[in-house]
Amino acid sequence: MTATIIDGKAIAQELRGNIAIAAAKLTKEHGIVPGLAVVLVGSDPASEVYVKSKSKAVTEAGMKSFDHKLPADTSQADLLKLIEQLNADKTVHGILVQLPLPSQIDSTLVLNSVDPGKDVDGFHPVNAGRLATGQRALVPCTPVGSVILAKKMHASLSGMDAVVIGRSNIVGKPLAQLLLAENCTVTVAHSKTKDLKDVCRRADLLFAAVGRPEMVRGDWIKPGATVIDVGINRVPGEGGKTRLVGDVNFKEALEVAGAVTPVPGGVGPMTIACVILNTLRAACASAGLPEPKV
Ligand code: NAD
Repeated sequence: MTATIIDGKAIAQELRGNIAIAAAKLTKEHGIVPGLAVVLVGSDPASEVYVKSKSKAVTEAGMKSFDHKLPADTSQADLLKLIEQLNADKTVHGILVQLPLPSQIDSTLVLNSVDPGKDVDGFHPVNAGRLATGQRALVPCTPVGSVILAKKMHASLSGMDAVVIGRSNIVGKPLAQLLLAENCTVTVAHSKTKDLKDVCRRADLLFAAVGRPEMVRGDWIKPGATVIDVGINRVPGEGGKTRLVGDVNFKEALEVAGAVTPVPGGVGPMTIACVILNTLRAACASAGLPEPKV
């Protein structure tokens, strides 16, 4: 058996096109141009690449991008002052503070200072609480993108057994909440889970968000299951270069699963698309408009 490879790049491209159409409609009918402010402190190369691709995606969707690049020795007080300004700025609908922040800055304090209505990363406790209680919320982008990919394979996820490996606030926990809202029976596995392989083998939908290269082997997967690989791991490649692999052994998964996401080209592109989706959603909510249909 060879699994379907879920083309996250193509699905993200289609989503970005739909977001651009919805953003143009918002501008035409309500005079609102959604705006995203991205704050980068320091010059971590991976963060710089990520921030650039976000800004490009925002501009391509017909939205405004405001980039704030601060030196690595920026004080916590100065960063908080900038966030206060962005919170008050009516042209800014989304604020994204790129992590990790330098050690002199308390990340939790900074993330909690973002207006929850502009929190396009969905990390603020108000948004986490709203998600958990089924209220309109800004939800972390990677879990949203992961569920969209699963739904491309299944018209309904209702009643399916979903296993999420990983319980971080950024991926595992919000992903579990989204799957519950889709009426899945959800198991959250983590570093202390016993018999992880057997737990995984029960899954109709298996999500791996661990950060361990190719940890999930072929015999951890129920035949025909849909496997969404969130992991991004850099491992040594040919000629002294590094290459990216996921948390799932892709080759083995292809032999057993019904569908599987590749790394790169699976969840990664969806995360970027969902940043602009959340910016659009935040802009609509700020104007008292219903959720945009994309
Ligand atoms: P994290 O380190 O915060 O959490 C990892 C989780 O994995 C923890 O909850 C831990 O309990 C669990 N875990 C660790 N070792 C385990 C083991 N041996 N068995 C079972 N569970 C184990 O990581 P995170 O921020 O949630 O990210 C997870 C992965 O997803 C990383 O590879 C990260 O790079 C990737 N990621 C990708 C995107 C994307 O856009 N595709 C976005 C965010 C994170």
